[in-house]
Amino acid sequence: MYTAILARRVIDGTGRDPIVDGIVLVEGDRIRAVGRRAEIAVPEGATVVDCGDQTVMPGLVDAHSHASIVPGLGDQIGQLRQPPAPQVLRAVANLRADLRSGVTTMRVVGEEHFIDVDLKAAIAEGRLPGPRLLVATRPITARHGHGAALTTSDGEDEIRRHIRENVARGADLIKLFMTGGVSSQGTAARWYAYSRREVEVAVEEAHRNNRPVAVHAHGGPGVRICLEAGVDTIEHGKLCELDDLIEMRRRHVWLVTNNAVSGHPDGIEKGDAHVPAIMAKLREARARARENFAAVLDSGVRWALGTDSMHGLMWWEIAQVVEWGATPHDALLAATRRAAEAIGLGDQVGSLEAGKLADVVGVHGDPLADVTCLQRVGFLMQAGRRLDGLSAA
Ligand SMILES: [Zn+2]
Repeated sequence: MYTAILARRVIDGTGRDPIVDGIVLVEGDRIRAVGRRAEIAVPEGATVVDCGDQTVMPGLVDAHSHASIVPGLGDQIGQLRQPPAPQVLRAVANLRADLRSGVTTMRVVGEEHFIDVDLKAAIAEGRLPGPRLLVATRPITARHGHGAALTTSDGEDEIRRHIRENVARGADLIKLFMTGGVSSQGTAARWYAYSRREVEVAVEEAHRNNRPVAVHAHGGPGVRICLEAGVDTIEHGKLCELDDLIEMRRRHVWLVTNNAVSGHPDGIEKGDAHVPAIMAKLREARARARENFAAVLDSGVRWALGTDSMHGLMWWEIAQVVEWGATPHDALLAATRRAAEAIGLGDQVGSLEAGKLADVVGVHGDPLADVTCLQRVGFLMQAGRRLDGLSAA
């Protein structure tokens, strides 16, 4: 019933200093106590797991990804237009890779065929290894917008109808595509698809159904319209100006940022190298990325990290923002506690605290000294279940 996890160092995700010679006491699927070994008694009969010199920390939370997409294969929208079977086959491998990399919770921000609802259920029932999922189901996107795969929503009536159907089918949140994007042809990143009235309708419908609204937006006037309409998170924000970010902060809107899909060689660069229109947008995003992140830090906006389908590369997302000026501890919080808060699960996951779900990861090394050690996952537990023997396939 009890598992006592011992480690040289425990980073609990609350933001306080690491606990040296720490212990995480787990009962069933929950954390019971966290502290120094000397302070917490191990109950009789407990299973003791000594993680040695690993650093033990909360399971990572990927605040923005997709289950079925592999950016390195190219044509991401085309992948979403496929029938369900090939999509599910990719998703099973992707989610396994995510879990093995220490991601125990993930928010899936757009799939077709409602495959994310089925994947979420299979994971929750222990039939499929993967991060615990929050799902957006079909994204709300205009016919001429970025992200338009099989389902498009034009006009107030269609937006309402599709949001209601998504909610009925099990959507945890509503994803709306506002501006253009990098990985599609024909949309500019500062152009936006929906009128102010349409965004207001989407927010009203979602919020009345107790669903938050996550908006794909890079920059330009579309960002401000979404903020004024009351959306909950801005995803990407790669071309936001400082005053947009300050406005986000003022309105308590989260920024969920990501860099691997545009910056890592296995991302869009690998998949869409033969498409000049996409490569031109990729170059602009890359050229702006460091400066954009400096503005994020300057603005004081609350930010969290996601991989946007770069499965298994959450460590890389963390390492990238550290290279650009975030402290390792702050970057780690953006991938744990703050990511959990951004997606509305802050009371359940994201830190090692009594009462929360026992999602616990051990890494070989000290991530506060060298964040790249986050790719060396050892111990792995999700809701009290040990998974560190999980093979690659
Ligand atoms: Zn995305």
